[in-house]
Amino acid sequence: MKRGREPIPNVKSAFLLVKCPDCQTERIIFSNSAKDIGCSSCGKKLAESRGGKSLIFVTEAKKLG
Ligand SMILES: [Zn+2]
Repeated sequence: MKRGREPIPNVKSAFLLVKCPDCQTERIIFSNSAKDIGCSSCGKKLAESRGGKSLIFVTEAKKLG
């Protein structure tokens, strides 16, 4: 199921388990973080804040809970 525009369907906010495409480090991020989020291991940008919603750059994102 692919929806280019809405990576996070019908939720205001969620915690997501994402995997860094460069070093495969997994990390939990908040879907509407107000800040850019970088990989804790290699520093690659994983998500960018876009007016209350994050644009997520990772290859995998699993919704938690
Ligand atoms: Zn990384």
